[in-house]
Amino acid sequence: MRILVTNDDGIMAPGLLALRRALMELGDVTVVAPTTPQSAVGHAITLTDPVRVHRVSLGDGAVGWAVEGSPADCVKMALYELMPERPDLVASGINLGANVGINVLYSGTVAAAIEAAFIGLPAMSVSIEPAETVDFDGAARIARRLIDQTIARDPSRPALLNVNVPDLSKGPPKGVKVVPQSLKGWRESWERRTHPRGGTYYWMVGEMRTEEEGAETDVAALADRYVTVTPLRFDLTDHGRLDDVRRWGLRLD
Ligand code: MN
Repeated sequence: MRILVTNDDGIMAPGLLALRRALMELGDVTVVAPTTPQSAVGHAITLTDPVRVHRVSLGDGAVGWAVEGSPADCVKMALYELMPERPDLVASGINLGANVGINVLYSGTVAAAIEAAFIGLPAMSVSIEPAETVDFDGAARIARRLIDQTIARDPSRPALLNVNVPDLSKGPPKGVKVVPQSLKGWRESWERRTHPRGGTYYWMVGEMRTEEEGAETDVAALADRYVTVTPLRFDLTDHGRLDDVRRWGLRLD
């Protein structure tokens, strides 16, 4: 099996290297990842600058491709330029920080998986809750186990799965739950500061809402210490409203 591993935390991120190590047991792993951290760039692609690519050492004799671009750029570059043959699976992560709720829409980690799904490849994004000591290897083993069980399922409809792992330093997860994405967003807050040479600047310091929401969602199940699996799609059309809006009789005159 040929596997492309990418991420949004950058090619030297420990989560990426852990995922690579775990997936090497399944087949040939090619690493193509951003040169620098690209968290929360969403599905950005590079259009107005050249995209430079460098061969870099990943340690233990392995080499990967570092791309001066976004996670989606990395997947495009891998599929159309760097990999002689198409991968059978694209895995993105292990991201430091959960990608649940509205975060899914900001996430470069998830966008890389979606980019692969655009051309019908099975893809999985994997993220873990932040902690003082983050067990990336533990999360990577969980990802591997889930890939084992999902990769060959229903080949006519390759799955795009978003996986989140709870903080493993608090003990093993309670199990796996397949849950929908929560629509919970951020508790918005900004820190306002004054630049020593004049002018005002801001730091975004908001955080994800994680309070109980009384529904089985990724946010709730992750807070309850389950590994969450959410099948995603990238069709943003609100199909339920199409007829509604058609009935509005929109006109140009
Ligand atoms: Mn990230």
